[in-house]
Amino acid sequence: MRTVTRIERPEVESRKRVAAYCRVSTDHEAQMDSLENQMAAFNMRIAMHPGWELANLYVDEGLSGTSMRQRVQFRQMIEDCKAGLIDYIITKSVSRFARNTVDTLTTVRELKKYGVELYFEKEKIDTADSLSEMMLTIMASFAQEESRSISENVKWGIRKRFEAGEEVKVPLYGFYHTDDQLFLIQKDEAAVVREVFERFVHGEMPQSILNDMIARGVKPPAGNCWKRLQLDRMIKNEKYAGDVILQKTYVENHLTHRQIRNRDEKVTKYHVRDAHAAIVDRHMFDQAQKIMAMRNVAIGNSTYPYGDILHCPHCGKVLTHGSLNNFYYDGEKIQNGGWGCYGAEGCGSYLLIQNRLDEAVIAAFEEKYGERKERVDYYWLDDTVESIELDERTVTIRWKDGDASTVEMDFSEGRYTPSAYADFYNEFLDRIRSGEKKNKYKNLMGLNMED
Ligand SMILES: [Zn+2]
Repeated sequence: MRTVTRIERPEVESRKRVAAYCRVSTDHEAQMDSLENQMAAFNMRIAMHPGWELANLYVDEGLSGTSMRQRVQFRQMIEDCKAGLIDYIITKSVSRFARNTVDTLTTVRELKKYGVELYFEKEKIDTADSLSEMMLTIMASFAQEESRSISENVKWGIRKRFEAGEEVKVPLYGFYHTDDQLFLIQKDEAAVVREVFERFVHGEMPQSILNDMIARGVKPPAGNCWKRLQLDRMIKNEKYAGDVILQKTYVENHLTHRQIRNRDEKVTKYHVRDAHAAIVDRHMFDQAQKIMAMRNVAIGNSTYPYGDILHCPHCGKVLTHGSLNNFYYDGEKIQNGGWGCYGAEGCGSYLLIQNRLDEAVIAAFEEKYGERKERVDYYWLDDTVESIELDERTVTIRWKDGDASTVEMDFSEGRYTPSAYADFYNEFLDRIRSGEKKNKYKNLMGLNMED
C-alpha cells in the first residue's frame, strides 16, 4: 500500500510592492546630498522590511527645471499606480508630497481607487487609517504655510511668488535676478548700499548722506533723484543682510486677491535668516536698526547714541532724552540736549547735559584704547561699553572686556550739576504748568501734554 503524504508547499507570501516619492525644491549641493541620503534610507527601509519589495523611487528635483512645476516623476508614479505596479507609497512629509491641501487630498483619493495607500513619514500618517483623511486635511493646510517658512524651501517660495508676479517683481537695488536665481549681487549698486549703511552706522544723518549721493550723481534705487524714503527703506530692508521676511503682505481673500500689508500680523510672518547672499554684515545691519529706532523722528526726539542704557542714580529709572532746544540756563543754550529722570514715574531729581557726558565718555575711551574719538557714536559705544553708571559728578563705564573706568565730569563752578540743573528745570516746568509761562514747546521732558 502506498502511502501518499501530501507535502504542503509553503504559501507564497504576496509581497507588497513599495515605492518612495521625494521632492526637493532647490538644487543646492547640501540639499542634493540630503536627498541622496533620503533615497538611500528609503531604499534600505524597503529592502529590510519583511514582505516588501522595491517598486521604484520617484524624485522631482531642481529649482530651474520644469520637472518641479510639472512634477514629471510624480505623474509617472500615479500612472504606475494606475497600471497596478505599486501597492504602497512612502514619502517624507505632507509638505514634500503635494503642492497644497486640495492637491494632497485629490491624489490620496485617486490612489485609494487604485488600491494604493500612502505613508507620510514625518507626520506618521497612513492613509489606510480611517482617521487619515482628517489628519491629512489638517497637516496639508499647515504644510501649505510651513513650506514657505522652511529655510530650504525659501528660494522655491520666492521663485513661486516671483512667477506669480507677487512681492519680488523688480529686483531690489543691489541685486539682480536671472531665470534660475534670485538675489545675485549687483556689484556697483551693492557698493552704494554698503556705503550708505557704513555712513549711517557711523553716525551720519540720513539727510547728509542723501545730499552727498545727489551731489555725486550716484544712481538712485528708482526714479531720477534720491528720496529720503528710499534711504530709510534701504536701511530697514532685511534683504541686505541676506534675510527674507515672508508674508509682509498677504492676499485678503481668494475673491478679491487684494494685497494687504501684514502690519498687525494677521498672518504669521516668517523671518528666514541667511536666505540669500548678503550685502552688509549682520552686525552692521543690526546696529543700523538700533540707530534707526533711536532716531525715530515720529516720537519727536532722538535718543541717539545712548538709547536706553542710562539710569537715574537716585531712583534707578531709565533716563529720558530731551532736546532742551528752547530751554536756556543762565542765558546759555544747551547743545545736544540732556538726559533726565522724567520718564514714566521718574523722580525728576536728575538732569545731565549730554555734552558733559560725551566728554567724559570720550576721555574714558581714549584712556582705555589710546584713540581719540570726535564724538560719541553708537557703533563703538555698542561694541565696547557694557553699561554706564552715572553719579552727581562722575561717570563709570563698565567695558565689555570686564574693565571699568571712572571719569570726572566737568561742571566748572558747580553749575549744571545734574541735581542743581534738575531743580532749575523743575521750576521751569512749574511755570508752564501754572500757566505763568506759555508752553509752545512740544516734547518737553516731564510734561504730559494732556495735563
Ligand atoms: Zn530718578
